[in-house]
Amino acid sequence: MKPLSIYIFSLIFPLFLNSQETTYDKIFFENSLMPESWYYSDVKYEAPAFVLNIEDKLPVHDENALTPGNSLLLNYTSSPQANWNVDLVFPEWRGKDFFKPADQLSIWFYVKSNTELKDLPELAIKRNNSISKTKKIADYIQDFQNGTWLQLRIPLQEFGLDSSDVSDISAIQFSQLKGASGDHEILIDQVEFINSEIRNIPVSAVEINSAEAYEMHVDLTWEKVDPARVKYVKIYRSQDGSDYQPVGIQNTQYYSRYTDFTGKTNQEYSYKISAIGHGYSESELSKPVQVSMKKMSDEELLTMVQEASFRYYWEGAEEYSGLALENIPGRKNMVASGASGFGLMALVVGAERGFITRDQFVPRMEKILDFLEKADRFHGAYSHFIDGSSGKVVPFFGNKDNGADLVETSFLMQGLLTVKQYLSENNSAENDLRTRITKIWEEVDWEWFKKGENDKYLTWHWSPDQEWVIDHQLIGWNETLITYFLAIASPDHGIDPAMYYSGWASQEQKAQDYRSNWGETNSGSLYKNEEVYFGIPLKVGVGVGGPLFFTHYSFLGLDPHRMEDRYVNYFENNKNIVRINYRYSCENPGGYEGYGRNSWGLTASDGPEGYKAREAKPSQDDGTIAPTGAIASFPYTPEKSMDALKNFYRNNGKFLWGEYGFRDAYNLSEDWVGNIYMGLNQAPMTVMIENYRTGLLWDLFMKNQEVQEALKSIKALDKNKDY
Ligand code: CA
Repeated sequence: MKPLSIYIFSLIFPLFLNSQETTYDKIFFENSLMPESWYYSDVKYEAPAFVLNIEDKLPVHDENALTPGNSLLLNYTSSPQANWNVDLVFPEWRGKDFFKPADQLSIWFYVKSNTELKDLPELAIKRNNSISKTKKIADYIQDFQNGTWLQLRIPLQEFGLDSSDVSDISAIQFSQLKGASGDHEILIDQVEFINSEIRNIPVSAVEINSAEAYEMHVDLTWEKVDPARVKYVKIYRSQDGSDYQPVGIQNTQYYSRYTDFTGKTNQEYSYKISAIGHGYSESELSKPVQVSMKKMSDEELLTMVQEASFRYYWEGAEEYSGLALENIPGRKNMVASGASGFGLMALVVGAERGFITRDQFVPRMEKILDFLEKADRFHGAYSHFIDGSSGKVVPFFGNKDNGADLVETSFLMQGLLTVKQYLSENNSAENDLRTRITKIWEEVDWEWFKKGENDKYLTWHWSPDQEWVIDHQLIGWNETLITYFLAIASPDHGIDPAMYYSGWASQEQKAQDYRSNWGETNSGSLYKNEEVYFGIPLKVGVGVGGPLFFTHYSFLGLDPHRMEDRYVNYFENNKNIVRINYRYSCENPGGYEGYGRNSWGLTASDGPEGYKAREAKPSQDDGTIAPTGAIASFPYTPEKSMDALKNFYRNNGKFLWGEYGFRDAYNLSEDWVGNIYMGLNQAPMTVMIENYRTGLLWDLFMKNQEVQEALKSIKALDKNKDY
């Protein structure tokens, strides 16, 4: 029998724990995904001093690294008459903001040249636009040797900083020591802030659980290890079964798998792995495994992409809720509700295609519903971000966004209504899940978001303490079609179907202004567009039709073939938006590297300067391509999407393909690739490939009685009436 205290604890805390976001090391450099240059560096020099660079970035060195696959090459010429410096800038990405306490800067370096201590650079730390005092590397090195990896550890105090400053540190600067001279070459690796208490404790070996070979990559998995003990799993590959070379490391906080993209097919490889401790001690190597790569058919490639992106929502799910994270790596306990809705549909594909069994799918849905029933809701609507451990709203986009997000809620409901139809078996588990989904769906008070009796629009957000403070009205054409559609479909809290025309497709001045401000053009300000781009007609849409996610998010479940209004059939219109976007990348007015028939698809994604919605027009194009743009467009442009998929995998996979499929985005002009996968972008690839192949998600979502009635009621609206 359990002690009484557990029961009391359970009564007070019936479901959720009190916890805080998981913390991680602040790492400035471990490996570069791009093989040429390190995007997050900035080289400056005045002649005759010099630092070898590729367009002001440090070159990547792949022959010798502390942590494989690479290190940074600092090849410099010092001169008493001049100066040089190199900044290593912190690689920012979304939700990377909970760092472990640290009181030391740690840098591993390897002196290749015959350099003496006096010619090594000095270091400074930048934070909040200020720079610290400089410190000579030479003063912190014991047992200096050329030709070996040395760890430099400098207490933050020495720079006049303390551990509370770590989160604000934006760059580490290497610069020429006064009076130094000559040509020098050093390698730099594992630049990070660590805790001085870290000791070099031996770690035990890890064994490989599975090894699966695809056309040009191999997936290895292992039992999850404790990230408090093991910092990395290190991967070794051999072609002859005896000579094993280190090829990569994996961060144990996020993954228990590693994707080794070799770029070659029809190869046989053997692998071993080891564990690396926080002090960089290494365990024994594991037992070996052998695999054979094989050329894959188009159908096999499609399944491969579907399964890899599905894993984001299966293996990569938030631990307490089973729902989707905003991005990986990123915040580990912050559920993104809209991405979770897309993810639910990817999980359906996973169960249908046998990536998981139905017996695995059902308990996951139970876990998800346990969470959704207890999580914060505001008039039945969920917030954009929810803490997985507490179920409380996370105002990640600022304090005004601390309540309902109706658009995210509609993405979530689209997923739940699809799952409800997939759970069609007559047994107590599935019957119960259907009932629970129905209740959550019916409790969303869509009508409340009409704000006032006389309001014409749905409003995006509502805050429990600041009410309609963000005050953003939903006006089409964009990704919020599904929001109006489900608001019309709701059985008990529905809106008047006429709001389809009076709100979503409104003709009034406010709506026209909204569209023309948003699109920087009057084309499409009346909802309909009727321009022709590249010879392709655009009936509905602002400008050139917007980012491609407009043709994806609402149509993961809502079958565009069946969605029609007085202006257009949305399958035809979406197809034309995609074709315009494709043609734009072929024409490539910005002259960006890599654009063309095999690399296209401007949409919202991460980018060199952060997350942004990109469109097929020069002002909204910075050279960044997100694979989800072309791949989630499969139902509209199957051949063009397949060409892009093959190019992304076969020609760019070395940096673009990883544990959850395609990384979020890349930009060849900037020699940049996103290190993250995004919850909003992975599932649409799995789901829309499936809709292209079998129509499964469309069929399931459209089966809902309320959905069919909403479709009918929109079609029944008078085509000529001024609503
Ligand atoms: Ca490295």
